[in-house]
Amino acid sequence: MKHLTEEQIREIKETLIRMREKLIASANEQIRDPSNVTFEGGDEIDRADLEGERYLTFRIKGREAKLIHKIDYALMKIESGTYGICENCGAEIPFERLKARPVTTMCIECKELEEELEDG
Ligand SMILES: [Zn+2]
Repeated sequence: MKHLTEEQIREIKETLIRMREKLIASANEQIRDPSNVTFEGGDEIDRADLEGERYLTFRIKGREAKLIHKIDYALMKIESGTYGICENCGAEIPFERLKARPVTTMCIECKELEEELEDG
């Protein structure tokens, strides 16, 4: 991700962390509502105490959980230095696009292609 400055990376990272915090906060709200939670067994709950927040994200279903995983993935890629590179064609994804959609893993061209294929 040589096309991004340290400052740009820091900005994206902060955005991702803020997004994640918001999602975790709203996940915490949901977890207090028993209708959103399924407990399957004691073992899992014990392990959950150790895994903490990780467990929480697994308990949350649907869109939010998916987004949390995407954020984690993006943060992991920032750490490993592969963030902002299209996973499909290897192109550098422009900062403006990353800023607008920090969890993106594909350049606009590949994303559009994928959407076209999905529609067809
Ligand atoms: Zn691409």
